[in-house]
Amino acid sequence: MRAYDIILKKRNKKALNIEELKFMIQGNIDGSVPDYQMSALLMAIFLNGMDKKETTFLTKAMIESGDEIDLSSINGIKVDKHSTGGVGDKTSIVLAPLVASLGVKVPKISGRGLGHTGGTIDKLESIPGFSVDMSEDMFINNVNKIGLAIGGQTKNLVPADKKLYALRDVTATVDNISLIAASIMSKKLVSGADAILLDVKTGSGSFTPIKEDAFSLAKEMIDIGYLMGRNTVAVVTNMDEPLGNTIGNALELKESIETLHGNGPDDLRELCIELGTEMLILSGKYENREHATEELINALDNGSAWNKFREFIKIQGGDLSYIDEPEKLRLSPLSKDVIAVNDGYIHELIAREIGEVSLILGAGRKTKEDEIDHGAGIRLYKKVGDRVSEGEKVASLYSDSQEMLIKASDKLEKAIKVGSEFLSPNKLIHGIVKKESVIH
Ligand code: URA
Repeated sequence: MRAYDIILKKRNKKALNIEELKFMIQGNIDGSVPDYQMSALLMAIFLNGMDKKETTFLTKAMIESGDEIDLSSINGIKVDKHSTGGVGDKTSIVLAPLVASLGVKVPKISGRGLGHTGGTIDKLESIPGFSVDMSEDMFINNVNKIGLAIGGQTKNLVPADKKLYALRDVTATVDNISLIAASIMSKKLVSGADAILLDVKTGSGSFTPIKEDAFSLAKEMIDIGYLMGRNTVAVVTNMDEPLGNTIGNALELKESIETLHGNGPDDLRELCIELGTEMLILSGKYENREHATEELINALDNGSAWNKFREFIKIQGGDLSYIDEPEKLRLSPLSKDVIAVNDGYIHELIAREIGEVSLILGAGRKTKEDEIDHGAGIRLYKKVGDRVSEGEKVASLYSDSQEMLIKASDKLEKAIKVGSEFLSPNKLIHGIVKKESVIH
């Protein structure tokens, strides 16, 4: 077999088989297929697409590039959740303890932020002492003991995704549905959960800005899930504006804490309840949607989700005083407000641009090696559709650098669009995709 022939086959719009995909993936890992040939194949895939079978073969080849986590020693149905990535998306921090407080096991492997999107682990690491650094045994023990654990992507978990993602990032081949589906599903499938709930974002701050593409991605990932024997459901949700009112690690953690106390912004609470309902149904513990939703609302309002969050932070080494008194969480010392220059209604809060503003402030990474400032970020006081008056505060920015603060506020002003006509709030949930059905 030769890499040249495989590239030529895809260039000529033919479907690749599993052996060919394994040859390319394994070869790229061991060095026998150089990055320039792998990049050529990625571009051929980007331009000519892959059918469902090929995407599943690619996912399998990627899974086989590294270790798999064996969760069979955890009793009961284990449900994982994954978001395709967005701005201000702190859902997992609320959702994992919320669902675990109702007796469903949540073993979760999370990522760090890269580019304009944030990552769950960075947000949780705003708590001094909190760590995702643990052995597989410890991860399993924690899930058995308290019902949840959040771990990081270890070096040998889908190494092919790390290599491929780095190549896609520099060859303009990230935003392809088959490549995104294989990247996400390979990481979900190796981490061993029985059922998977996907939050597929659509809108300017997502990888699939066009709604139809988000639905196609959702369907593609569900098919891969089922072909690999996992019950999978996707919810397509809005990412045209940031989720909640904060962007940045410590700020987002504070907002998650408010939500776990039964408060928090309406959109974040609603999304956690909606996704939580699907997770409870997937677990098989609940059959009735209304009942599942009611239990989730109770768990947020009666303190049981909060108590589970405290157990989780404690077992992973976090200093509880920082979540019990969130004012102790450090915010960057310099701040600047963005003020409305005329009356009207908020028409747009462009999520992608706002994510990039948070990068300028120091809240995220431009490259994997960058250090992040946990205290940097943005607090928004308005959502799309809200009324705003001239001179009113629309946002506050936090940073360690005066220069970056000025640059960021200039960019943020352009990302906030005010119009004179009334506009309805954005629709949060666009639809639920289940095996062979789409519910709008
Ligand atoms: N998230 C991933 O893990 N992979 C992609 O390709 C895009 C988003």
